[in-house]
Amino acid sequence: MPPKGGRQANLRACLICSLLQTPKEFVDYGCPNCEDVCDMRGSMERVVDCTSTIYDGMIAMMEPEESWVARWQRINKKRRGLYAVRVTGRPPQDVVDAIEARGGLYRPRDAVEEL
Ligand SMILES: [Zn+2]
Repeated sequence: MPPKGGRQANLRACLICSLLQTPKEFVDYGCPNCEDVCDMRGSMERVVDCTSTIYDGMIAMMEPEESWVARWQRINKKRRGLYAVRVTGRPPQDVVDAIEARGGLYRPRDAVEEL
């Protein structure tokens, strides 16, 4: 079922960092930024829980340290790749707990933060 209108409907966005990958990539490799908290590798069920097909916009992050967009998106520390601007959905509570256990703070990706 090819998508209509050009959007790559086969991509899913990570709910934690908004990285876009295909479901197969998430299952095969996990998320390169947050696999330690998401633990998606090898589990399509987990991928479905931790990623979303509902997202807006795409940013190709080629020079993460240079891009003002990266700073605005708070992803300047993350890997280069394709990121969504906004992702709708919430990860499982255990993922939020895992982030906080590592001293991080889960930031929902479905709102544009105030500058
Ligand atoms: Zn991620």
